[in-house]
Amino acid sequence: MSGFDFIVVGAGVSGASAAAALAEWGRVALVEAEDAPGMHSTGRSAALYTPNYGGPVARRINIASGIFYTSPPEGFSDAPLLAPRGALTLARPGQEALLDEVLANANVRHPIERVTAARASELAAFIRPEFIADAAYEAGVMDMDVAAIHQGFLRAHRQRGGTLLCRAPVENLRRVGGVWQVQAGRHALEAPVLVNASGAWGDVVAARAGARPVGLVPKRRTAIVVEPPAGMDVSRMPVIEFAGHGPYMKPQASGIMCSPADETPDVPRDVQPDDMDVAVLVDWVERHSFVTVRKAPRTWAGLRSFVTDAAPVVGFDPAAEGFFWLVGQGGFGIMMAPVLARVTAALATGGAMPADLAERGITAADLAPDRPSLAA
Ligand SMILES: Cc1cc2nc3c(=O)[nH]c(=O)nc-3n(C[C@H](O)[C@H](O)[C@H](O)COP(=O)(O)OP(=O)(O)OC[C@H]3O[C@@H](n4cnc5c(N)ncnc54)[C@H](O)[C@@H]3O)c2cc1C
Repeated sequence: MSGFDFIVVGAGVSGASAAAALAEWGRVALVEAEDAPGMHSTGRSAALYTPNYGGPVARRINIASGIFYTSPPEGFSDAPLLAPRGALTLARPGQEALLDEVLANANVRHPIERVTAARASELAAFIRPEFIADAAYEAGVMDMDVAAIHQGFLRAHRQRGGTLLCRAPVENLRRVGGVWQVQAGRHALEAPVLVNASGAWGDVVAARAGARPVGLVPKRRTAIVVEPPAGMDVSRMPVIEFAGHGPYMKPQASGIMCSPADETPDVPRDVQPDDMDVAVLVDWVERHSFVTVRKAPRTWAGLRSFVTDAAPVVGFDPAAEGFFWLVGQGGFGIMMAPVLARVTAALATGGAMPADLAERGITAADLAPDRPSLAA
């Protein structure tokens, strides 16, 4: 039996960042079921930093994370973690009023400006102009380098003496004499604190530990990458959304990533795209843009896992001693990682919310696994 101070289950961005932060406090085993970290949600995101997206709790966290991503610690990454992208929300003819909801999200630090249909057509030259009656532009939306972020956290964990174990699915969990005894593949581990950062599997791991589930629902989201119209360089164009929601398109160097923004309830698994979802999306893309899909696009799907109030769940379980939750990041988990890792390190070591985060209105009560909005 190998002894640690903390066992972190799941080496996606949530577990990797938490393990790095906890390794400042003690010996950490970061335990991953797959052959390598990042094979589930973390490796399947849209890689966007969207500080004006989500409910109030998510926004406070995402805005605070921007500080880390803009100026990461020395040696965290050789490359910048954020790069300008911008986002353009388009209103179809007759739907101009829907832009008001988008513009209401603006604040002094994250402005969103109305732009004319003509300007929007220049910014998003691959969209058919007949779909653009009015538009709002948000410059603060950024591309995130998810691989660099994830590797940065894994490296920090390793440099602080942490242990990463892959091909180590946590199957058996027992609380004996104030420690968790964990069988993870061929590894027998023990630690007083276990951090559940297993993404879509959060309630599965909790059930194995005898903890009450928090009601996590993994929701499938589909993505495809199509080639831009012939001769058009889209690599610096903004993300395109339509007011009133629906599919979005993210131009990038490798093509245009498109997603129907689907949220189909699913189960924890290696989720794959549904052929019909892809076909419907291809049809939508061809009708709304000058893209012609000549060959089968690259496709994938991933799980975004939510609890009922769509805020993350971070904190000790009220009934299962030493069982710490770090789940429910939904569609924001990459953005949230630096802040939720700090919160985890503070609370899992018996401390309080870091003062700078508390000043921003991020409270332990809003994240707690026994908060009233989850029971509802
Ligand atoms: C299409 C799509 C677009 C998205 N776009 C964005 C975006 O633009 N910006 C953003 O911030 N977020 C985005 N997200 C959300 C983001 O990807 C997730 O919130 C984030 O990756 C969650 O990370 P995680 O580490 O909690 O989960 P995961 O990356 O899923 O990691 C959990 C890990 O736990 C492991 N595990 C599970 N059970 C066990 C066990 N019993 N033992 C050991 N290991 C176990 C799994 O193998 C997995 O590796 C998007 C997601 C999708 C699907």
